[in-house]
Amino acid sequence: MIIYKFGGVSVKDASAIRNVSKIIGEADGSLTVVVSAIGQTTNLLEEIIDAHYAEKTSAKDLLEELKQNHLTLILDLFDEFPTKLLTEIQTLFSEMEARISQPFTQPFNFEYDQLIAYGELLSTRIVSAYLNFVGQKNQWIDIRTCLDADDKYRDANICWESSEEKVKFQFRAEENSLYLTQGFIASDFKGYTCTLGREGSDYTAAILAYLLNADEMIIWKDVLGVLNADPDYFSDTVKLDLIPYQEAIELSYYGASVIHPKTIKPLQAKAIPLRVKSFIKPSQKGTLITKGDFPQPLLPNFIVKKKQILITIEPHNFSFIGENDLFFVFSLINKYGIKLNFTQNTAVSFVFCVNHSNRFVNDLITDLKEKYDVYRTDGLELITVRHYTPATITEITEKHRILIEQKNKNTAIFLSQGSQTIPEVDCCCLQEKRQ
Ligand code: ASP
Ligand code: MG
Repeated sequence: MIIYKFGGVSVKDASAIRNVSKIIGEADGSLTVVVSAIGQTTNLLEEIIDAHYAEKTSAKDLLEELKQNHLTLILDLFDEFPTKLLTEIQTLFSEMEARISQPFTQPFNFEYDQLIAYGELLSTRIVSAYLNFVGQKNQWIDIRTCLDADDKYRDANICWESSEEKVKFQFRAEENSLYLTQGFIASDFKGYTCTLGREGSDYTAAILAYLLNADEMIIWKDVLGVLNADPDYFSDTVKLDLIPYQEAIELSYYGASVIHPKTIKPLQAKAIPLRVKSFIKPSQKGTLITKGDFPQPLLPNFIVKKKQILITIEPHNFSFIGENDLFFVFSLINKYGIKLNFTQNTAVSFVFCVNHSNRFVNDLITDLKEKYDVYRTDGLELITVRHYTPATITEITEKHRILIEQKNKNTAIFLSQGSQTIPEVDCCCLQEKRQ
């Protein structure tokens, strides 16, 4: 069995879906295809959820916009009127409309998961119907019928044991079988939908790869593979041909957006190779993530996280920050499900960075203020350099206003006062300087 994962961009319009069909047509043997929501659907669904939560009537208009996007795509894609598919899509939209016809009654994260999942249900229905239409007979599977997770909504944990049997039963590697299913979503023990965190479809593909003992997993992207830096921010990026599992885990941990952080471990556990390939140039080799060592010389890798908030806390009474304080702070952070991108503690203060987009930051700050003086700085950037060199450090520090710098053997992290443009750090040139 081989597992393919196609993200939102790779199915963003009719020609993109035709391209997916072409790539699937070139595969050998049994294939399981994991598909994300189409284009920007998940972001639009988040807007709908936020609007409905705030009891704004715009939720209905946004949902109508989402519906029109999907209907237009379907009409572009099919030469014949796809009656069955349109009925399925209409049913999904009716369910969504029903959900926003009355106020949310359950906690936000629960309601979020019940609605956000429709992005993947819609996309997989459409892609599956199209593949069948062009003769690529496939079986559509509602992944929630076999992937069990807990009820930590928006960041659910997979129940590996109970999922294994169901997954193996549904996805049988009989000759040349083709399965199509959703990423990102699962089912909790009561049968409610839960999700694995934004961009979680890579992780779903890895879970299936693990449970099905897949031979290989491929993530199809709009870039040639994993690059040593984000081309939006850096000039002259270099594609990495080979990355050891451990290094890929580190890169995704520090925020490299190319792979969801939880993806690598299940693959590493069974030594399943992961390729990141371009759906625009599928014949090119891409990046192989596998066991082994990093090829020498090590190339500096740059990861930038924008829109960071730095929060500094200091005890009211000028006392030191002790274990009790850290315990208290981390309990709150855990309570709000906030992810820390950076931490540092000194004798009298504890500082950390969180994403601007986290909706619970203000609540956290309010709680912290009860015990501490709290300072907040917005609009910062975290720049992480794996395998830094003296030249990279000089270049970064010369070009940014650095507030905090943290270094260990392999990794340097800079907290910088946000610049609109980070670029002009030339990755290739840094490589040459090192050699
Ligand atoms: N559609 C979901 C998201 O955009 C999951 C994914 O694409 O991996 O976060
Ligand atoms: Mg997506």
